[in-house]
Amino acid sequence: MAISDVLNRVDAGVDESLEALKAYCRLPTISAEKRAQPETAAFVRDLLTEAGFEAREYTTDGGPPVVFGQRVIDEKFPTLLMYQHYDVQPVDPIDEWRHDPFDPIIEGERFLGRGCGDTKGNLIAQVLAVKAWQQAAGNPPINLKFVVEGEEEVGSPHFPAFVRDHRDILAADGATIEGGEHLADGRAKLELGCKGILYVDLVCRTAKVDQHSSYAAITPNPAWRLIECLERLRAPNGRIRIPGWYDGARAPTREELRFLRKTALRVEDLQEYWGVKSLRGGSDPYRVVRTLIYSPTCTICGLVSGYIGEGTKTVNPAVARVKLDFRLVPDMRIDAQLEKLRAYLRDEGFEDVEIVPHKEKLQPSAISLNERVVRAAVEGARDGSGGDPEVWPWSAGASANGFFNEELGVPSLMGPGVSYDGSNYHAPNENIRLSDFRLGARHMAAMMGRF
Ligand SMILES: [Zn+2]
Repeated sequence: MAISDVLNRVDAGVDESLEALKAYCRLPTISAEKRAQPETAAFVRDLLTEAGFEAREYTTDGGPPVVFGQRVIDEKFPTLLMYQHYDVQPVDPIDEWRHDPFDPIIEGERFLGRGCGDTKGNLIAQVLAVKAWQQAAGNPPINLKFVVEGEEEVGSPHFPAFVRDHRDILAADGATIEGGEHLADGRAKLELGCKGILYVDLVCRTAKVDQHSSYAAITPNPAWRLIECLERLRAPNGRIRIPGWYDGARAPTREELRFLRKTALRVEDLQEYWGVKSLRGGSDPYRVVRTLIYSPTCTICGLVSGYIGEGTKTVNPAVARVKLDFRLVPDMRIDAQLEKLRAYLRDEGFEDVEIVPHKEKLQPSAISLNERVVRAAVEGARDGSGGDPEVWPWSAGASANGFFNEELGVPSLMGPGVSYDGSNYHAPNENIRLSDFRLGARHMAAMMGRF
């Protein structure tokens, strides 16, 4: 049996899989609104059962079920674990969607619908890869496990406890996390880890009640106060001003940079997707990608105070609130960074600004280029698409790598996948290109053969 037989089966199964993806994307599984979680867990369980997996749902303490499925072909074979989540982001602003986000459609060369890229399409492509092996060779060439949770988009509050309680069933020789993206030219992207995220609200209350703004001459204004505080946190060039913030952050290795120098990322494409005039790092793809990967960030995600409705309201507000996300690179730890933030605001005299950390948090984590799972994914990309993949030491986003690398001791990476940089994750008109879906499923099937 040649790998080309398996890949031909993948190609032949694409249309049927896209129909399955439509059914999956019709489920409005918005975890922030606790919508449709039990039905979606049941859908995933049935999908895996139908693909020959022994699949079941595990209840969590206060959260939606986690679906686990396994296919043991031979105890002597290595085992690949695939992590996915079945939940999606909210659809606001709904007016900017060209179609109903939960009535997915194929439009030209694209599939549109909430969750198709992040990450329902990846699960469907992985199941397609398994079925292709089955048809071509009777069985996949390795043992396979799936674990699919329903709360990734709200920070996986119950997943760590699930992992700790089920180490035995999750044991594996390598893991894939969600899925990877493609670059604009269709080249597969692998990410060997993720950044972490520390998310806090800063709240400044300067009065018990709002006042008529004529009193602003004698009363404090919380919005101005909060702006002063924010200016102390981050310099205009993006550098975080908190002392010691960068201590311990993992530095680039020569081998990582060698991969990044070959980046096929196109700066103009990113600018066009987002409608952004210029990027930090300039127009040189290597500098942009290096800045994106190795820079910790401090981002204002939202900022509110006072009246922002129609017309005027002359008010001096009592309270101002900002939501901040700090992205951390591997070897920074969330709790230690939070302590640095607290100490800094105290030292700078901002005792009147309350720090409210969110319980949703993910540690940064990344593995080395030499792991078996990395080699299989790199070689699988060559078999599946005929070209070298783009390899990043970690992704700019946060994900569950830490649970696998550190809690379970299973080296994990992001990829193969079905989306690309213009897939509009978390935004209106989420979409994937049909060509990336096909290439992602081929990559997955080939990686199974190389594992
Ligand atoms: Zn997401």
